[in-house]
Amino acid sequence: MFESLKKKLSGTIGQISEKISKEEEEAQKEDKDKEISEKKDISETPLEKDISENEEDIAKPGEEDKGVPEIPKKDETDKEESKKTKKTRISRPWGKSKTKEKTKEEGKPEDKSLPREEIEPSEDEKSGLFSFVRHKTISENDIDDILFELEMSLLEGDVALEVAEQIINTVKEDLVGRKIKRRSDVAEFTRDALKKAISDILAVEGQDLDALIKLKKKQGEPLKLMFVGINGTGKTTSIAKVATYFIDKGYKPVIAASDTFRAGAIEQLTHHADKIGVKIIKHKKGADPAAVAFDAVEHARAQGKELVLVDTAGRMQTNVNLMDEMKKIKRVINPDLILFVGDALTGNDAVEQARKFDDAVGIDGIILTKADADAKGGAALSIGHVINKPILFIGTGQSYSDIMEFRPEWMVEQVFGEE
Ligand code: GDP
Ligand code: GDP
Repeated sequence: MFESLKKKLSGTIGQISEKISKEEEEAQKEDKDKEISEKKDISETPLEKDISENEEDIAKPGEEDKGVPEIPKKDETDKEESKKTKKTRISRPWGKSKTKEKTKEEGKPEDKSLPREEIEPSEDEKSGLFSFVRHKTISENDIDDILFELEMSLLEGDVALEVAEQIINTVKEDLVGRKIKRRSDVAEFTRDALKKAISDILAVEGQDLDALIKLKKKQGEPLKLMFVGINGTGKTTSIAKVATYFIDKGYKPVIAASDTFRAGAIEQLTHHADKIGVKIIKHKKGADPAAVAFDAVEHARAQGKELVLVDTAGRMQTNVNLMDEMKKIKRVINPDLILFVGDALTGNDAVEQARKFDDAVGIDGIILTKADADAKGGAALSIGHVINKPILFIGTGQSYSDIMEFRPEWMVEQVFGEE
């Protein structure tokens, strides 16, 4: 589930991390080259001529990792001489390099000679345990290209434009200006920024259906759920799945076959209802869908059933008759929640349908089907945010038990969690 989205996000984390670390390495290398060449200049000055003979090791590039060479303690004169030379060196501009500050910060005794780890990074340093020398600040320039690439790739993955833009902007705001102290910080900060951006997108106030059923029961009423959406998205299967879900919680649902328009719709729903052992209220094909729904509510009241699940005709969202018909059902039974059923595999189309149905009848929640087969995750990420309504359930397969309540944290875990 959502594998390609997950890959994109981890790819971006890797890219940003690699780019910034590489820049830092290059900058450090430049510093080192500069220091070596400046040192060469100094060693050629008459003042240092004698000492440089004693310090041959330092002057030879490539042998630095042997350690900081000790000034041979021949006699007091030599000692004095070496102190003098070191002082001279420190007073040079490069003597004030950040390398020295770092040594200071780490609380080590101030070593005025060339620090060894500067020249060849140690294993610890390579693994990110060591500090970035210059405590780099992330700039827009560092991440712009990579985030643009991510935005394009999210759009290709059916993430809605406004959602992709918000993710990129949130990440940029979060990262630009952050100070990097360790190599590993970059990946960590990027991951956190992306995680936050995606959590923000998914944060749409949900509905506690269980609490709603109990509340309605106290009022002596069933909870009325009306299912809308176009044909083929998995609407009838989802009704059977939701019924199964609540039967498992100990409730008694009844189904209303209010798609009286499509040939075979009543039969299809009857087949599901029989399989899961749920009462279905149906009229003849072409009957008034609102009347069927009304009868189902009456049945639930009379029988003390807690839920009424109303199917509706699933034609295109642009069909005026269909929309009028849904409005009539809404007027007649006054459903507690109107649930839009959308197919995750249709990506942006599902989002657009949700928008149209929301405009026409007002949607309270979403059921996103076929998430099990969806690698892109674009609809799952976008649909709730675009119409500002929660995804309540996702379909995870073809059997009646393949449904789960959708929690934003779960999706975040799916796309950022371990394999
Ligand atoms: P309707 O025309 O909207 O009522 O669609 P159906 O309920 O008949 O479903 C259409 C097809 O999608 C059927 O083959 C279902 O088994 C399949 N389907 C529905 N939900 C899911 C799901 O969550 N995952 C998968 N893999 N298939 C599903
Ligand atoms: P089409 O040619 O298949 O699109 O069917 P029509 O639009 O000509 O409609 C045929 C009959 O079905 C007419 O009496 C319409 O009022 C009715 N009708 C059209 N759309 C719907 C619908 O979505 N639901 C219901 N129940 N009836 C509809």
